[in-house]
Amino acid sequence: MSRVIFLTDHRQAPGIAPAPAYLPLPGEPLLDTRGRPLRDLRISVTDRCNFRCTYCMPRDVFDKNHEFLPHRDLLTFEEIAAAARVFVAMGVRKIRLTGGEPLLRRNIETLVGLLAELRTPEGHKPELTLTTNGSLLARKAQALKAAGLDRVTVSLDALEPGVFARMSDSDFDVARVLEGIEAAAAAGLTPVKINMVVRKGINDDQIVPMARHFRGSGHILRFIEYMDVGSTNGWNMAEVVPSADVVARLSAIWPLHTVLDEDMGRVAERWAYADGAGEVGVISSVTQAFCGGCTRARLSPEGRLFLCLFATQGHDLRAVIRGGGDETRLANALAGIWQGRGDNYSEHRSQADPDAAVSSEHKIEMSYIGG
Ligand code: SAM
Ligand code: SF4
Ligand code: SF4
Repeated sequence: MSRVIFLTDHRQAPGIAPAPAYLPLPGEPLLDTRGRPLRDLRISVTDRCNFRCTYCMPRDVFDKNHEFLPHRDLLTFEEIAAAARVFVAMGVRKIRLTGGEPLLRRNIETLVGLLAELRTPEGHKPELTLTTNGSLLARKAQALKAAGLDRVTVSLDALEPGVFARMSDSDFDVARVLEGIEAAAAAGLTPVKINMVVRKGINDDQIVPMARHFRGSGHILRFIEYMDVGSTNGWNMAEVVPSADVVARLSAIWPLHTVLDEDMGRVAERWAYADGAGEVGVISSVTQAFCGGCTRARLSPEGRLFLCLFATQGHDLRAVIRGGGDETRLANALAGIWQGRGDNYSEHRSQADPDAAVSSEHKIEMSYIGG
């Protein structure tokens, strides 16, 4: 049953979200136009990064002339936490901090601490995770865990130093990332997930060495199809290694069987090693659209809400947050925005000619909104 709330209509005011049709009662899901609940929130805390991964922040675009967001435009930790409180009240059960490189945001553990105080309407702490390139993780892992972080995902595209350097376009030592992974595991941020973006002809020779390295470690390696996100990486379908090929390559060496997972919103297909050495995952963002189960909202560093990784427009929540008033205003804005959501970009891409999917020049960048 829904409770009807009468609201002032702000739709004509610039930057203000549409009024909601209704506000769900506590415990009742907030649904978009395709019946998808709001369950996951990704919060990008910075658009800066100390890597220049060629598929994400190509150095010729993100060079010394690139204008990053000024610090005053970023949401403060208190503003992020206040917004997250409303998201959790509206159904979010999992929060992921991302970026850019989230560990570059000074005192990020303070934000983790604020988010760790949130409770769902049922009284549970939402799951708190963070995605990082691992370069600063060894020194931060303990503090993050102590502040209330549950898990981390570390991005690592190669073990071989030359390939790692080419993918990340940085001179960081891959050993530092591996140290970060072990420090995270030692701190209890487990299971540690490791994300490897695969590009044909560039790092696909690392699929088997990466699997060999992480088999039996307790960490979960996941292979991600290279996506046409943003408009700077020169994405090309020919560079995508379909997940089915990755699974075929691995299972030719180590037999695998599928692990069933009914969880709506989970994007990775899980595979277990038949010999009990743990599991791997594949994320088939290009070859198998999962928009039907997409329950994610994304908050940008300066408080714009994006409903899809491939969106071109965000909704200005910072104006609502900084505009004063109580949390009801933000809840109304959020409900109106989510109820109007119909995004399903990847389904269009897989139905059409995949090469045609790169057409938009204004898609948001992954380094701005996070993965
Ligand atoms: N800097 C952090 C990191 O690299 O983990 C967090 C932000 S990064 C944008 C989040 C994730 O997006 C990473 O796992 C990265 O590999 C992935 N990513 C970036 N660009 C991508 C692309 N074009 N296709 C697939 N994954 C991508
Ligand atoms: Fe930085 Fe992460 Fe993008 Fe690499 S993928 S450039 S580490 S934000
Ligand atoms: Fe979700 Fe958009 Fe990706 Fe579809 S394309 S799964 S709607 S983020």
